[in-house]
Amino acid sequence: MAYNEKILKDDVLRVFLIGSGGPINNEVRVAPCIAVIAGGEFFLVDVGPGTYRIVDVMRLPIPHLSKILLTHFHSDHIGDLGEANMMSWANGRTKALEVYGPEGVEKVVNGFIMAYEHDTGYRIAHHGKDIMLPEAGTPISKIVKFSDPKERILCFETDGLKVYAFQVDHSPVKSAVGYRIEYKGNVVVITGDTKKTNNLAEHCKDADILFSEAISYEMLNNMIEGLKRINLTRSTKILKDIQDYHMEPVVAARIAKEAGVKKLVYVHITPPLTNKATEELYLKGVSDIFDGEIILGRDRMKFKLKPKE
Ligand SMILES: [Zn+2]
Ligand SMILES: [Zn+2]
Repeated sequence: MAYNEKILKDDVLRVFLIGSGGPINNEVRVAPCIAVIAGGEFFLVDVGPGTYRIVDVMRLPIPHLSKILLTHFHSDHIGDLGEANMMSWANGRTKALEVYGPEGVEKVVNGFIMAYEHDTGYRIAHHGKDIMLPEAGTPISKIVKFSDPKERILCFETDGLKVYAFQVDHSPVKSAVGYRIEYKGNVVVITGDTKKTNNLAEHCKDADILFSEAISYEMLNNMIEGLKRINLTRSTKILKDIQDYHMEPVVAARIAKEAGVKKLVYVHITPPLTNKATEELYLKGVSDIFDGEIILGRDRMKFKLKPKE
């Protein structure tokens, strides 16, 4: 199977929007996942349910996948972690996958290790240790710890590529982070799930591309009205609770403006947008606030940033 390995060798920062959806399942968008390739490094930020197969279908250089960066541990962000580890190993990865995340990541990683323990054994026994390198089969947790809530922690640095984590506010989820990626003068920021905070705007500063989560509360409230009429109280409660710890599209636009971002890409799109009218409703008012480029994220979108320095 041929993977696109050429893209590991130049000095372009490439971003692949694998999954642009949020927690509500739909036919248009899968759960959150963004693939990044720069400086010979290939990693994923979040790996929600249904995303890993898209990484494979896009022929990204899977044997070279080195890291997965988790923003937090809601299931829509971690569901495919086991598949990403198992299938990249089966397709030729020769080093253990490193999984970064805030405190608690070791519990998530150890849980997946346990769930896949039988299969890990089957693969080594069936194909042999030369094909399935045992040392590459088990992922390694990399805990991102903060001593100051405002700081930016360098997770790793490779060949001019720097990847930082910063804290976001997705309470009661403790902890949650966003990531800032810098390479040859370009900056890409991924918010993860969060409310608007001054700290978030600070870490989005001068980003060439900001991938921001956003949920339309107005659209959720319309759904709630309909659900109330048919007495679906459970769904009504959940759709209401969701509004405690996210940003509306106009709020994300405000962050982009404050931070001097060049291009704003909406991700974690919720509720599902099934036609032009719902897309327009989701984006209502955002261009009045942010005058840079605004993109409604779609699965499999590709972004290419040529070196500035
Ligand atoms: Zn989420
Ligand atoms: Zn979340």
